[in-house]
Amino acid sequence: MTKTITIKESLNWAEAQLQQSCQRPRFEAELLLAHHLQKNRTYLHAFDDKHVPEIETFKSLVSRRANHEPYEYIVGSASFYDIDLKVEAGVLIPRPETEILIDLVAKIIEKEAITSIAEIGVGSGAISVVLARKFPNLKIIATDICDTPIKVARQNIKKFALENRVKVIKSNLLDEVHEPLELVVSNPPYIADDFELEKNVGEYEPAQALFGGMVGDELLKQIVLDVKERGVPYLACEMGYDQKEAMTLFFNEIGVKSFTFYKDLTGHDRGFIITF
Ligand code: GLN
Repeated sequence: MTKTITIKESLNWAEAQLQQSCQRPRFEAELLLAHHLQKNRTYLHAFDDKHVPEIETFKSLVSRRANHEPYEYIVGSASFYDIDLKVEAGVLIPRPETEILIDLVAKIIEKEAITSIAEIGVGSGAISVVLARKFPNLKIIATDICDTPIKVARQNIKKFALENRVKVIKSNLLDEVHEPLELVVSNPPYIADDFELEKNVGEYEPAQALFGGMVGDELLKQIVLDVKERGVPYLACEMGYDQKEAMTLFFNEIGVKSFTFYKDLTGHDRGFIITF
């Protein structure tokens, strides 16, 4: 039989387990225990002498995190923009920098009164769900080449009752999209194949969502060409911090009407908007 242990004792134990894998081991221990108990963190402080039920289950959550598995996969949920999205292994965890891309796209949608867009590489559905919630008249076709993101994005779209306006289809880039579009948005895989990612990313998140080719920008360039060829007026993409120069050369080479780059919150180049 397992010995009864209190909230305080289990937090101390979990904090020690998470020293190597987490920057804030105490905080993450509290998040995991709060999740395990289905309570908030305040409860842990108020009732720290209560015993923790099903301690073995809690211990297994902690050992997953100690092995660098992302917190979001362990709890099955990621906080993004103003919502919580379901996530699971096989789907990229939405990143805060992608919120900047959404805000830039939102400005264009507003200014141009856009009602029809596509997203390439829907992942969890983060971009499409947030945009659809912001603009009640917006229709979105979101594509992905992998099955797990298609499944999870549909679940998130359903969670927010957006099935009528956000359609997810299996497609390489825009190959299966035949409707006229006013804008395309994408956070595609843009990391070079041989780039060594941190363990929590490289060992757990889907390679198909991260790696864009030998150089990294191959898919970005393909997307630019596809969107240009279709005569869609706007394209907004996230990109890697070191891709501004190569993309600038490419835009000038193929000829676009105008382009701007934007930075993420740490001041790194993180994406671009093209007007064709
Ligand atoms: N920004 C992500 C990372 O650094 C990569 C996302 C992407 O490739 N689209 O892990």
